[in-house]
Amino acid sequence: MTEKLYDADPYLSEASARVTRSEERDGRWRVRLERTIFRPEGGGQPADAGTVNGLPLLALAEEDGDVVHVLERDPGAGEMELRLDFVRRYDHMQQHTAQHLLSQLLLRRFGAATLSFAIGPEHSSIETGRPAYSDEELRELEEECARLAWAALPVRVFSSDDPSPLSLRKPPKKSGRIRVVEIADYDRSACGGTHVRSSAELAPLKILRVERVRANARLYYAAGGRALRDHRLKHDLALRLQRLVTQPLGEIPACLEALLRERDELRRERRRERRQEMEREAARALAGSDALVRREFAAGEPEELRAFAAAVAAAGRNVLACSRPAPGAGAAHVVVARGRGDADLRALAAPLFALLAGRGGGSAALLEGRAGDLSRLDEAADLLRRHLG
Ligand SMILES: [Zn+2]
Repeated sequence: MTEKLYDADPYLSEASARVTRSEERDGRWRVRLERTIFRPEGGGQPADAGTVNGLPLLALAEEDGDVVHVLERDPGAGEMELRLDFVRRYDHMQQHTAQHLLSQLLLRRFGAATLSFAIGPEHSSIETGRPAYSDEELRELEEECARLAWAALPVRVFSSDDPSPLSLRKPPKKSGRIRVVEIADYDRSACGGTHVRSSAELAPLKILRVERVRANARLYYAAGGRALRDHRLKHDLALRLQRLVTQPLGEIPACLEALLRERDELRRERRRERRQEMEREAARALAGSDALVRREFAAGEPEELRAFAAAVAAAGRNVLACSRPAPGAGAAHVVVARGRGDADLRALAAPLFALLAGRGGGSAALLEGRAGDLSRLDEAADLLRRHLG
C-alpha cells in the first residue's frame, strides 16, 4: 500500500520515493511508489498535478490502496524525484477547506444541508438544501465567513475509531477507523481531502453567484487566491469602464442605461428612415409597367426588403426583391410578395429557391429566404411571371 504523505502533510511539495511496481499499458507507464505526495481525484477534489523524475503526471488512480502514477514513458528504476504543482494543490486546499466552513455556516444559520459540492478549474460550488437566498442573506454569509477567517481558527486532522461523540456534520461513509477534519470547535467532518492549516488562509472568501438547481440553490464561491484574482479582474474592469464613461464608479450603471436607451432610439429612428426610403423606392419602382416589379439592393436588411415588397404589393403589383451582398459578406436575402391574383406562393417556394440555391418559405402571399447564388435570378423572375400573371 502506498504511503500517502499528503494525509499527514498536505504542504509537502517535494519528496523522493522508490518504485515498487511499474508496467506498460496502452503505451503509457503505470508506476506505483512506496510513498507519494500526489493525491488522486476524490471527495469532490480534483487530482493533483506534478512530475515524477521530470516526467509530467498524465493521470493518477487509486487501486487496491496503491496510488498509480500514469506517465508517458518509463521513469527508470530506483529513487524517483517527486515534485508537486503546489499552486494547483494549494488552490484546491483553499476551495475545499472553505467548503467545510461554508457548509457548517449554512447549516447553523439557515438549517441548509450540503447536498453536494464540486471544485472545478474555474468554479467551486455547493448545492444546498434551500431554494433561495436573499442578497441580504448572502451579505451576512460573507461577513460571517470573513469573521471566521480573521479569527484564524486552527484546522486539525485526526483519526477516530468511534466518531459518535464527535457530532460530525458529515457522517463517515465507511465504518471503522475514520479521518476527521476539525475547524477549531466550529466544524467537524469525516473527510479524506487536503486542507489548509488555518481558516485565515481562506480569506478573502466571496460568494460569486447563486443558481437554482431543481428545488435547491447552488452557491458559487471563491476562496483565497481565486477570490483575489476574481476581485482583480472585476476591479480592473470597473476602472476601465470608469475611464470610458468618465463618471464615478457608482454612476456607471445609470450612465450605461442612458447610453443603451440612446442607442435604441437611434436604431428605431434609422429603421423608420430606411422604411420611408423603401417606400419612396417602391413608388419609383411602380413607375414601370412590368406586372412583376423586380429590384435588387446592394445592401439591405430583411426588414427593409419586406417594407419595399409590402409597399409594392399594396399598390397591386407582384414583387421580387433581393439584396446582393458583396462577395464573402453572407447570403443574399430574397422576398417575394403577391400584389394581385390569388395564386398560392407556397407552391412556388421549392422551385424558386432551387433556382437560387437557397432555402425559404412563407405564406400564400409572401415568400422569404436566403439565396446562395443569384445567377439564375432571371429564370426565377420568369417563373413568378408565369404563375402569378
Ligand atoms: Zn475535507
